[in-house]
Amino acid sequence: MKSSKILFVIAAMIGATVAFAAEVKKDAPAGPHAAKCCVKAEKDGKTCGHECCVAAAKDGKNCEKCGGAGAMAAKK
Ligand SMILES: [Zn+2]
Ligand SMILES: [Zn+2]
Repeated sequence: MKSSKILFVIAAMIGATVAFAAEVKKDAPAGPHAAKCCVKAEKDGKTCGHECCVAAAKDGKNCEKCGGAGAMAAKK
């Protein structure tokens, strides 16, 4: 009966590791994306007023300070 208990612990550990990995992926999505504040502003039909976001937008980038990454999406 002891070995089955160990197997259960190992299975639980693997499950926790997979859940943790999925959580990390959610927090840091791959590829370019706008910062949350800029996405919110855009939804309201505005441009984000943060100084750091405005400066980043001038360079055609998403504000990394606010959680954005990579180049800004080209406007259609
Ligand atoms: Zn912003
Ligand atoms: Zn910013």
